[in-house]
Amino acid sequence: MYNKTIADIARDLNAGEYSSVELTQSLLDRVEQLDSTYNSFITVTKEQALAQAKAADERRAAGNAELWTGIPIAHKDIFCTNGVLTSCGSKMLSNFVAPYDATVIDKFNQAGAVSLGKLNMDEFAMGSSNESSFYGAVANPWNTDCVPGGSSGGSAAAVAARLVPGATATDTGGSIRQPAAFCGLTGLKPTYGRISRWGMVAFASSLDQAGSMTRSAEDAALMLQVMAGFDAKDSTCVDQPVPDYSATLEQDLTGLTIGLPKEYFRDDLSADMQQQVRNAIAEYEKLGAKVKEISLPNTHLAIPAYYIVAPAECSANLSRMDGVRFGYRCDDPQDINDLYKRSRGEGFGNEVKRRIMVGAYALSAGFYDAYYKKAQQVRRLIKNDFVEAFKEVDIIMSPTTPSPAFKRGEKTSDPVAMYLEDIFTIALNLAGLPGMSIPCGQVNNLPVGLQLIGNYFDEARLLNAAHKFQQATDWHQQAPADIA
Ligand code: GLN
Repeated sequence: MYNKTIADIARDLNAGEYSSVELTQSLLDRVEQLDSTYNSFITVTKEQALAQAKAADERRAAGNAELWTGIPIAHKDIFCTNGVLTSCGSKMLSNFVAPYDATVIDKFNQAGAVSLGKLNMDEFAMGSSNESSFYGAVANPWNTDCVPGGSSGGSAAAVAARLVPGATATDTGGSIRQPAAFCGLTGLKPTYGRISRWGMVAFASSLDQAGSMTRSAEDAALMLQVMAGFDAKDSTCVDQPVPDYSATLEQDLTGLTIGLPKEYFRDDLSADMQQQVRNAIAEYEKLGAKVKEISLPNTHLAIPAYYIVAPAECSANLSRMDGVRFGYRCDDPQDINDLYKRSRGEGFGNEVKRRIMVGAYALSAGFYDAYYKKAQQVRRLIKNDFVEAFKEVDIIMSPTTPSPAFKRGEKTSDPVAMYLEDIFTIALNLAGLPGMSIPCGQVNNLPVGLQLIGNYFDEARLLNAAHKFQQATDWHQQAPADIA
């Protein structure tokens, strides 16, 4: 049962192959047996999951089942869940039981999905390796010495290890696409504003976007269908109709124009990585697509601009964590300053503190124009590169990451090496564009991801292109050796 996709499960539940309670129980057993190796879950909500599954089975018996009724998933621990620990991977929120559900959680509950619990992540979603979590590092199911990627490393490891068929995740600079690439999964980061951010703990508000981690594009379409749509509680959520994402999956790709940005096929990209990605592009040509070289000339400015904008926004967002209202509070504070200082000093990890310091500096009166304002101007240039490119092409493709999954500990002492992990993913967040990563090959027995970049609100085209590739190839069906 554990090797089924969301689409398979929907069919099986309808056909009465098994009940939601049976499936939920078998996945919970699997989590109990295997997750000590992966550490992908922070909280398992066993009781609640079984109650939701039972309600789903009853609903089905009464003839009222819908597509999602009784399908088990799990959520990144960045989404507030009513009555359940919402830690965001931090000691700072290690005692925070959210008093309400995030819109994304609410939508899955309304749809009838079953939640198995909350998934591990880099602290406050800052990282590319899931090594900065207060709850410990997450192991990559393909090779447990390697990182699963981050920050949605728990989401990726849980889906790759077949503990759940799908998971929610978030992406501020690559946190869905990079772990999807490292774990051989299909990761979708929609257009900024496609999904409500309400109840999602904010890292960098102008970049954060919820999305999904699944094993196929077909499943990504099903997850997006639940999550997408306007929400008056998030003023940055866009009021735009939500298409039927599954309806266009099968569309023919003849005539699709794929842009290959020359800045993304750099000389320092290993020959093996290049080869896997080129093979995937050749597959698209077989499917009828045309390829065109394009240029995104400001690509080299994406990482520097991101590492001003993201820390600046995080320094403001995390100021609410002060030991007073909620979250961690130090013991025996001497006075209010001691309370702030020690609560924040003890509650935040090193990477988070580094970002708060950089952000506060960049926003300070003397440096605002030189750094923050300049970074916002660069951001516009990066966006304009894409706007120009999409006048000529329908979709842009590139590697998702410069290399496959790296070893745990390999980059922890060098923050800049870690930041460079997102070299191909970050520009999209600065521009607000949708992106996907799909498995397209392997190097050293580790998965390699192909990144698909779409125009604004063109998720349907991304899902269509990803699905057609997955029908023609079987990279997405490969599983880690000791799992298949
Ligand atoms: N790795 C990037 C960072 O550390 C992106 C993280 C994310 O997308 N949440 O900021």
